[in-house]
Amino acid sequence: MKLLVILLFSGLITCCGGNSSHSLPSKLLLVSFDGFRADYLQNYEFPHLQNFIKEGVLVEHVKNVFITKTFPNHYSIVTGLYEESHGIVANSMYDVITKKHFSDFDDKDPFWWNEAVPIWVTNQLQENRSSAAAMWPGTDVPIHNTTPSYFMNYSSSVSFEERLNNITMWLMNSNPPVTFATLYWEEPDASGHKYGPEDKENMYRVLKEVDDLIGELVHRLKVLGLWENLNVIITSDHGMTQCSKDKLINLDLCIDRSSYTLVDLTPVAAVLPKINTTEVYNKLKVCNPHMNVYLKEDIPARFHYQHNDRIQPIILVADEGWTIVLNKSLPKLGDHGYDNSLSSMHPFLAAHGPAFHKGYKHSTINSVDIYPMMCHILGLKPHPNNGTFGHTKCLLVDQWCINLPEAIGIVIGALLVLTTLTCLIIIMQNRLSVPRPFSRLQLQEDDDDPLIE
Ligand SMILES: [Zn+2]
Repeated sequence: MKLLVILLFSGLITCCGGNSSHSLPSKLLLVSFDGFRADYLQNYEFPHLQNFIKEGVLVEHVKNVFITKTFPNHYSIVTGLYEESHGIVANSMYDVITKKHFSDFDDKDPFWWNEAVPIWVTNQLQENRSSAAAMWPGTDVPIHNTTPSYFMNYSSSVSFEERLNNITMWLMNSNPPVTFATLYWEEPDASGHKYGPEDKENMYRVLKEVDDLIGELVHRLKVLGLWENLNVIITSDHGMTQCSKDKLINLDLCIDRSSYTLVDLTPVAAVLPKINTTEVYNKLKVCNPHMNVYLKEDIPARFHYQHNDRIQPIILVADEGWTIVLNKSLPKLGDHGYDNSLSSMHPFLAAHGPAFHKGYKHSTINSVDIYPMMCHILGLKPHPNNGTFGHTKCLLVDQWCINLPEAIGIVIGALLVLTTLTCLIIIMQNRLSVPRPFSRLQLQEDDDDPLIE
């Protein structure tokens, strides 16, 4: 039995621990296709992405962070922090102390980003390393006085090809070498908002275009000789759900606009009352059954969305598919930002490269787990974070991992072997101690004596 266990464990360690000694620092390219809902992978065809996955790993659902918006989730991926900890708590923010505003179009003030340290900054503080970025949110801002060594100022009109050209050039020809790079693309998010995810015809077309871009990415990496040694993660910030003009929550029907300031609107509204918080809360609380209304101190702990000055005194969370409006018609056919426990809000993650297994599928991780995994691949000491490295061990070739079904199988197998061996030993012992059959009884000499003399 001992021998069996030793053989089993030595075999597992040999198979899973073969890549622990790197001479050169690993390189990692992190790619985000905004708004790539996890189940698009099941419902549409992605020949290029499926080829990528076949030679790498797939995490079918990534549980992202609340609120499921673009800026907050991209910053969680690169810091491993919930929004209350990294400070980018929405795409639209207001800071009551400094009176500063933040929006998608006005995001360059480092004040908003400095509550955390993104991985490209940490990577650059290592000796002899650079980082590069093509439009990942925050990469054109000097966070802690540091931008990536190579970056592009954000502009949605710059083509994917130009972004890819820059990233590959920087990965190939930089000194110190670029070891961490990011690439961001606005689709399928933009079309998801415009058409709604249930518009099969338009989404088919857009998702085919996204898949072609992935094909182009892989092709370029192969042609340039980067493919074999570069680790590539393809993921997203959030999913998308269908909205409807029949699912509107009109705040103007419940409360006068003069009594509050609206910092963010839908599907999570951030409300700053002007005078009486309780009065505003009481009016909003009964406004619509498809909207949860929380005082800041009562926001459910599972959202990890409370302990930051930028979270307003009242937040309103619409049910899936419902849109909060101010007396107007439906702005978008698709949206995200809802409760992060909804599977429609989840993106996926696929990865390929020397750090990752080949042909391995995993059901779920948290988006905050991506950061400690990336730090491990790059050999960086992670900052304190909300992620769990152990959740991603099964994806990595240099980690020993047994997932639950395998662990149960091994325990049952070991018990069966143990039981069989025990039974055999008992049977053998019984055989040895059983009296020989047909052994003659020892008769006493006087047995034949008459009973009565
Ligand atoms: Zn997004």
